[in-house]
This record gives sequence, structure tokens and C-alpha cells, in this order.
Amino acid sequence: CKVLVSGANGYIAIWVVRTLLEKGYSVRGTIRSEEKAAHLRQLFSSYGDKHEVIVVEDITKEGAFDEAVQGVDAIEHTASPFHMNADDPNELIIPAVNGTVGILKSALKYGQSVKRVVVTSSGAAILRDTPTPSTFSELDWNEQCLEVVREKGREAPNMMKYRASKTLAEKAAWEFWNTHKANVGWDLTVLNPPFVFGPAINAATAPSGLGTSSNMFYNYVAHPNSNGATNEFLASVGTAWIDVRDLAEAHAISLEKEAAGGERMIVSAGLWKWQDFIDAANTISPPPKLTTGGLPKGNPGAGTGHPSTVHLLHYDTAKAARILGLKYRTIAETTKDTLADYEAKGW
Ligand code: NDP
Repeated sequence: CKVLVSGANGYIAIWVVRTLLEKGYSVRGTIRSEEKAAHLRQLFSSYGDKHEVIVVEDITKEGAFDEAVQGVDAIEHTASPFHMNADDPNELIIPAVNGTVGILKSALKYGQSVKRVVVTSSGAAILRDTPTPSTFSELDWNEQCLEVVREKGREAPNMMKYRASKTLAEKAAWEFWNTHKANVGWDLTVLNPPFVFGPAINAATAPSGLGTSSNMFYNYVAHPNSNGATNEFLASVGTAWIDVRDLAEAHAISLEKEAAGGERMIVSAGLWKWQDFIDAANTISPPPKLTTGGLPKGNPGAGTGHPSTVHLLHYDTAKAARILGLKYRTIAETTKDTLADYEAKGW
């Protein structure tokens, strides 16, 4: 069974590749340029020809994935920009939407052997900012970010631009599927993870190369002064999260469960504030040796569980529990493994 993983060098996708290989799948990963292949080839060298990489230079180009989809049994589409420095919202929206529709179009034309396509969407396509605590489920769509980006364009907050790219890409995927489902031999599954944290096996040689979410973790959980964040910030900022290894497992299980076809699923381990990860970091024994000069303390106990702590965003995760039956890592496990990863890298 061969799986195509787009954006295979990314923080999440490289764990998807590893998980699939460990489960016995063959994997073909797409990358944007040949120099990104070396790390993947080296990391997965023991898998021989069960692991291949293919260059797809520009995912926004018509037919970009035509060659890549040929002969695979399933597709995991994770390639999409995730950063907070787009000026024009289209810098995010065009690759997100065209990349998603493009890979589905290629699967329609050349994916005769494809049985399932899994698209990595996000909680960003579901949630909206609310003044009072709210619970979101797969029935919810983030229309708020679309309105904000429509009204404000370049002046919209960067987080809203990113959310709009994910919302529009996922909407486009479902629209494509609904239009063509009678003519294809595959079905569509969408995963909606919240913030993704955990150890990195991508080619990052410095924390800045980790990827947006794991770089934030490094900045707030591994620095003695949390990069200048106030104790109030550390105790109040945070939403929902999942360990990157559990998300990779979700991608693999999504290929195996018949009932995952036609579903979008929120995969979330629970709620967090930065203070929760900081408290977990400070219980590790012996303490990790970091070149940052020690761990932050913040205000111990002021995060989740403190009577004055409020979480505005809650997810209903019943559907993923029912269909995928994932077991999620805890804040303590993820923090320990992530700090050990930084220590091993000499950061
Ligand atoms: P990374 O930035 O580590 O990986 C993104 C991948 O997408 C890379 O392979 C990157 O290639 C590729 N990519 C980005 N922009 C383009 C583009 N314009 N054209 C072609 N390829 C592109 O991010 P993550 O691993 O964190 O994210 C992977 C997916 O998961 C994304 O779809 C993201 O939206 C989603 N997600 C992430 C969350 C998180 O907290 N990390 C939470 C929820 C969803 P290159 O390296 O060449 O730039």
C-alpha cells in the first residue's frame, strides 16, 4: 500500500511519513526542491525503496501533482503555508486553496488506484473568537475570519489571514468532493487539529526552523524569561493542542477506518495555557540542560485548573474518539519529550 504525503519535509508531515513507514506502508513524499530531499533520504534510509521523494516545485500550478498521484493508494495532503508574516492574505490563501484543489484534481484524473484522500485542515477552519466560553464541533465553520479578511484585506490580523486560508481550502476540498464523488474511487477525510506541539524530526538546525507552532513552544517554554512574556500572558494565553506524534497516528488511522470517509474530525488532546507546559517542564527530573540558561517559572499553578483561569475555546472531540479511537499524550509527556529533543540538539 503506497501513500503520497505532500509537504513531506514539514514539521507534521515528516512524522506522518515516519508513522506510515513504521506501520509498513510505502511512502512517496513531495517536497518543493531537491535540496530538501537529503534529510528525508537520510532519516528514512533503512526503508530502502519503500520511501521515495518527488519534487513538486509549485503546488499552485495546474497539474502540479499529476505525476505524484500516479500509482498511490492514498493521499495525505499537508502542504500549506503556516506562518504569520503574510502581508497580502492571498500569499496564504492561494497556495492553501490551489494546492488542495490541485491535488484533488490530479487524483480525479490520474489517481485510479487512490482509495482515500486525507486533508490536514485545522481547528482554524472551525473556531471563531468569542467573548464567552464556547464549544465548537465539526458542524461549525469559521466564517468570522472570512469576514475579517474580506473587510480588512492586508490590514487583517495575520492570524485571521491564516485562518481564512485554512477555511477556504477545506471548503474547496468538500466542494470538489461533492461535485466529483460519483466519478472517483476515493473518499475524503479531513483532520482538524488545534496547536501542534512535540519533538521535531524535520531538518531544523535552529529553533527558528522548527515550524510556527513548535517555535512558539520553544520561545515560551524553554527560555527563562519566556522571551519577555508576562506571567499574566503565560497564565492566560492558550487554546487546545495535540502532540505531533498523535496527529501523525491520526493521519495513519484515517486511512484504515472505513467510517472516517466523508468526515471532518477535530483531533485534540485538550486545553492548555503556556503556564501548564511551564509547570510540567519544572517537574522534569533531572532538569533538562538547555543553552537558554534554565527554564521559566511564570506563576506556578496559575494555568488550567486555577479557579480564575478561563478557556474561551472548547472542542467537542466525540467524533474522533468514536471513529479513530486515539489515545492522546499528556502535557507532561509531550513537555518531557520536547525538552529532551532540544537538549539532544544542543539548544
Ligand atoms: P510546516 O511549515 O512545518 O510545513 C508546511 C509544509 O507545507 C512544508 O512542507 C512546506 O514546504 C509546505 N508549504 C508551505 N507553503 C507552501 C507553498 N506555498 N507551496 C508549496 N508547499 C508549501 O508546517 P506544519 O507542519 O506545522 O503544518 C502542516 C499542515 O498542518 C499545514 O496544512 C497547517 O496548516 C496544518 N496545521 C498545523 C498546525 C500546527 O500547529 N503546526 C495546527 C493545525 C493545522 P517548504 O518547507 O518548502 O516551505
